[in-house]
Amino acid sequence: MTGNEIRQKFLEYFKKHEHRLVRSSSLVPSDDPTLLFTNAGMVQFKRVFIGEEKRDYVTATTSQKCVRAGGKHNDLENVGYTARHHTFFEMLGNFSFGDYFKEKAIAFAWDLLTNGYGLPAEKLWISIYLDDDEAFNIWHEQIGVPKERIVRLGEEDNFWAMGDTGPCGPCSEIHIDRGPAHGCDNPACAVGCDCDRYLEIWNLVFMQFNRSEDGTMTPLPKPSIDTGMGLERIASVVQGADTNYDTDLFVPIMEKVGEMSGKKPGENPAWDVAMKVIADHSRAAAFLVNDGVLPSNEGRGYVLRRILRRAIRYGRNIGLTRPFLKDTVRVVFAIMEDAYPELKTQESFICSVIENEEIRFSETLDNGLKLLNETLEGLAAAGKKELSGDVIFRLYDTYGFPVDIVKDVTKGSDVRLDMQGFEKIMAERREMSRSKVKFDAMNEAYLSLSSAGVQTAFTGYERTEDKAKVL
Ligand code: ATP
Ligand code: MG
Ligand code: MG
Ligand code: MG
Repeated sequence: MTGNEIRQKFLEYFKKHEHRLVRSSSLVPSDDPTLLFTNAGMVQFKRVFIGEEKRDYVTATTSQKCVRAGGKHNDLENVGYTARHHTFFEMLGNFSFGDYFKEKAIAFAWDLLTNGYGLPAEKLWISIYLDDDEAFNIWHEQIGVPKERIVRLGEEDNFWAMGDTGPCGPCSEIHIDRGPAHGCDNPACAVGCDCDRYLEIWNLVFMQFNRSEDGTMTPLPKPSIDTGMGLERIASVVQGADTNYDTDLFVPIMEKVGEMSGKKPGENPAWDVAMKVIADHSRAAAFLVNDGVLPSNEGRGYVLRRILRRAIRYGRNIGLTRPFLKDTVRVVFAIMEDAYPELKTQESFICSVIENEEIRFSETLDNGLKLLNETLEGLAAAGKKELSGDVIFRLYDTYGFPVDIVKDVTKGSDVRLDMQGFEKIMAERREMSRSKVKFDAMNEAYLSLSSAGVQTAFTGYERTEDKAKVL
């Protein structure tokens, strides 16, 4: 089954079970300034869950574009190093707004995974929240999962809350044992371990309480269901691929990176990381620009800039010194445009935004890397282990190095980063520029107009200033 077919099968399954098929919302949340990017399927339904908005359906299914970079869920630095984390991914979900609850949600998920996708039941493991006996009984008695494969986990993994107050509840996750070859050295490795062996594929959230200011939890009159399964992860399982990057959603991008760099996967672990980072970030960049985000020094635009610059920096590790992202991004279009036809109409705009950023950054990247490497060599020679906030700031300010890059370069070494010193200098600079006119903000406003298709024309030949005012 191809990635497209796997997505289709999910949506068809829930449509058949009377769910309304709803399109993915934008990566930029429309009415939530507190959230950097849409990071889960439930985001577009938040107001429906809390009863502030009524729709003409009570169950829905989506394949939602998500970005987890920056903000609360931040997987940016995992990307390249795990088999399963992306900055951009698609979350398949089914939702019940006060309609069905635990029993049906669990039965749907089990049926689709084992009968629909044909996963071996004996390899599936279930995690539930500590005291959620109701979920335990459904899994064990109704579905027939043996007790040994149902694990109770705590708040961090298996309890979900919309915020400090409001709807919340236990969740139950479905994992698949991918075998010891995917595991780690920890003898206690089990469901919930950070390695890729017990791969978490699907999270079922049971929204059943309302948490008030003082922390008390009262049952919701109409409990709801919110689920999410990463398309790339289920694709890796269904396709028997080692990692998400070995599925048809990624292989053509990886091949393009291989073709341009002359490197093959499996030859050198550091090259593999670079290839994965580039493939992942190409997708994120294409989809973020498509949803109107442009590289800048603030907010969402800065996260996009960090993603692009991280990809460019890793490109250097495999000898890519000329702009290359515009080419990998074209492969992203070829893979994704059937599911997201709107990508096609924006192709040349998206590619030129990305290429501009590449050209801009490439000019300073090598000088910055030189400074960083020389500084690190100097530290090593002097037997020191801390990179000063001053150097981190200079790399950021003069060479446009997001801190992630410094972290990536020093990853695995015993060099500490003086982040406090860096933050202190940043705060001083911010203070100094407070009174300065916000040219960046103005720039962004114009850029977002142009990305929304608004064009300005010079009208001075036809209209004088006075006339324009009258009109
Ligand atoms: P993990 O523990 O692997 O980081 P999570 O518990 O943070 O995953 P959830 O917030 O429960 O993930 O999201 C629901 C589902 O979305 C996950 O079960 C997984 O299939 C998918 N998912 C989550 N984060 C990512 C990511 N960064 N890249 C790809 N898929 C993801
Ligand atoms: Mg996570
Ligand atoms: Mg998890
Ligand atoms: Mg989870």
